[in-house]
Amino acid sequence: MADHHVADVLLLLPLAQLYTYSIPERLRGKVRRGVQVDCPVRTRRAHGLVLKVRPPSPADPPLVDVAEVVTTRPPWPEDLLELLDFVSTYYVARIGQVARAAMPSLFARRSPKPEAWVRIATRPDKLPRSPKDVLVLEAVEAAGRLELPAARVLVPGGADVVKRLLARGFLAIEEEEATPAPAPAAAAPVVVRPEPTTDQAAVLAQIGGAIGNGYKAFLLHGVTGSGKTEVYFRAIEQVVAAGRGAIVLVPEIALTVELRRHIEARFGGIVAVLHSAMAQGQRAAAWDAALAGRMRIVVGPRSAVFAPVRDLGLVVVDEEHETTYKQEEGLRYNARDVAMVRAKMAGCPVVLGSATPSLETFQNAHAGKVTYLSMPHRVRERPMPEVRFVDLRYEPPVGAERLFSRPLLDALSATIGRGESAILFINRRGFGRFVVCSACGAPISCPNCSITLTHHVKPDRLACHYCDHQVPVPERCPGCGSSEVAIYGFGTERVEDEVGRLVRGVRCARLDADTASAGGIDAILAGFRRGDSNVLVGTQIVAKGHDFPMVTLVGVLLAEQSLAFPDFRAAERTFQLLTQVAGRAGRGETPGQVVIQTFEPGQYALRFAAAHDFLGFAVVENRIRRERGYPPHSHLAAIEVSSPDPAEASRAADEVRDYLDQFLTLEGAGTRGGPAAASAILGPALAAIERIKGRTRMQVLVKTRRRAALNRALWRLYKLVGPGRGRTRIRIDVDPVSLL
Ligand SMILES: [Zn+2]
Ligand SMILES: [Zn+2]
Repeated sequence: MADHHVADVLLLLPLAQLYTYSIPERLRGKVRRGVQVDCPVRTRRAHGLVLKVRPPSPADPPLVDVAEVVTTRPPWPEDLLELLDFVSTYYVARIGQVARAAMPSLFARRSPKPEAWVRIATRPDKLPRSPKDVLVLEAVEAAGRLELPAARVLVPGGADVVKRLLARGFLAIEEEEATPAPAPAAAAPVVVRPEPTTDQAAVLAQIGGAIGNGYKAFLLHGVTGSGKTEVYFRAIEQVVAAGRGAIVLVPEIALTVELRRHIEARFGGIVAVLHSAMAQGQRAAAWDAALAGRMRIVVGPRSAVFAPVRDLGLVVVDEEHETTYKQEEGLRYNARDVAMVRAKMAGCPVVLGSATPSLETFQNAHAGKVTYLSMPHRVRERPMPEVRFVDLRYEPPVGAERLFSRPLLDALSATIGRGESAILFINRRGFGRFVVCSACGAPISCPNCSITLTHHVKPDRLACHYCDHQVPVPERCPGCGSSEVAIYGFGTERVEDEVGRLVRGVRCARLDADTASAGGIDAILAGFRRGDSNVLVGTQIVAKGHDFPMVTLVGVLLAEQSLAFPDFRAAERTFQLLTQVAGRAGRGETPGQVVIQTFEPGQYALRFAAAHDFLGFAVVENRIRRERGYPPHSHLAAIEVSSPDPAEASRAADEVRDYLDQFLTLEGAGTRGGPAAASAILGPALAAIERIKGRTRMQVLVKTRRRAALNRALWRLYKLVGPGRGRTRIRIDVDPVSLL
């Protein structure tokens, strides 16, 4: 190791670049992988994370020395460093981009900031130069730490004195409020823990047996209301008692708040929350507390998978099927998948919990890579809600807006009349105008890709945004010949207005992306819980995790809104959404009912959702995916090419397609050979949302059975075209979830 005196350092600056430094004699052995170092960067200094210590190479440029090892931060855990490498390779991204996505606030800061604090550094091997130095040092020592501006005015010329003391290493900057005093180790406060049900006890025996015994993945399939949270908590208790840590991922920030309340009540002061809506400083403090081992449990959405929890003993992914685990901007990773790799690298179990597991996880369980655990009963043996369909072909919608059928209105009136509450669910995900035949109920799909064609205006047409198949809007249904074809797609506001007009006694609240982003989500939910409103109209936000004991009716306005979604996962999403939203009904003492309006009540996703039959659905859906060659039976990558100039976008997308075709052929996974080919390239096609912020978006989709070959081909592409040239932007999305 004597010749290992070169360090590859990831600078913790906004650009997150990798630099190489030499390690001076005095720091050899101290500069190791995972430690933070202080490095000269042009005329200033910056912190960096050591990723590699190695012998010098002839390819290295002339190097400068690492200045110092940062001793106030412990080294990053090795499993986290390995995870960064994995994510970089797998998702075709630079390591700096990965690290910045993992912990943005570490890279956002330039030291020192105005609200920084100074304290005595631990370097006593020099003498201060002047009496002023001594005065300032004494003052800081007496105070423990001082705000930087206060330290600067201690003596005349104090700013220069502080600067000199910092530069010579007598003082150090502490950028944040000190974190709370270390929590009492495993001594959690005494809380009333519900006695485990038979189901819970059975799955806990399995998970508990795996804790401390290396990597193992579990799918915890529990129906809505079966008490999955209590299973997580008891498993975490076991991990904490063994002196180790846990990461709990939740799909949404809004759910973090609720889970955090419960988890804090249970585990006291060793729980840190990490999410993107936190102030940078708070977030950095939570990160540091986890790195220092003061916080043993980290809860949060997506990026919490990168939390520097020490001695990781368990990873939990709640609602593992949720699409929000996929980061759709910047580094496009799937936190659920990354969580499994994190657990593997830490050598600990991972629990993927859901009432409606994803097909990917189901297939993994089927293949034996994941152990399937089931909790088929609700706690206290509450019955699952009764689900019934209103067939819109025979019960046409009434009222001016034609949104509600008579049976749904009757159910709504009766519920309100009894003083109970209802949720009206608009099955819409931000996009969706499509054509449905009101006579036979069939949506119009692409013959090549089996996804619903979406309606585009200018020119008026239906288009497939996987393969670019286009047809005019038909005047007659291609299936049954009826002329009753109509364009559908509506939002929450129209429903809110209409329900107020049609049903007496309704006090309506609305929860969708608009009202939620206005910061209203907690207020709206609290108002609904108090009874200020008795009908909650909402999009999929209302379907998730909330517990409203007074809700006895859930109405789904048009199941087609998600069934017709232009995505090969449309049926799966619909099954999940309906199961989740139905799960909101009847969580209290009164049983619940669910009314679903649809043109196509025989559709398999709807039927299985109504029967609360996940396994039935999964088997059918899995077979369809295999037949059509979609995940989990193939691997996908989407390359989005965008430009303000449509012609340029189209040209660049053609180029991307040609390159990929050649690279896949080089890797022996080419597209030749018809249906037997290892890969298929679809498009370029106009994206379903064809223009965003003035940029025209084209999409190239790769489908392959050879994941490693695809990864190498994508890296060749990335090295060639990078993030795009000129005004053209190129984005690679591995395992895409949203193909809009
Ligand atoms: Zn028809
Ligand atoms: Zn198509």
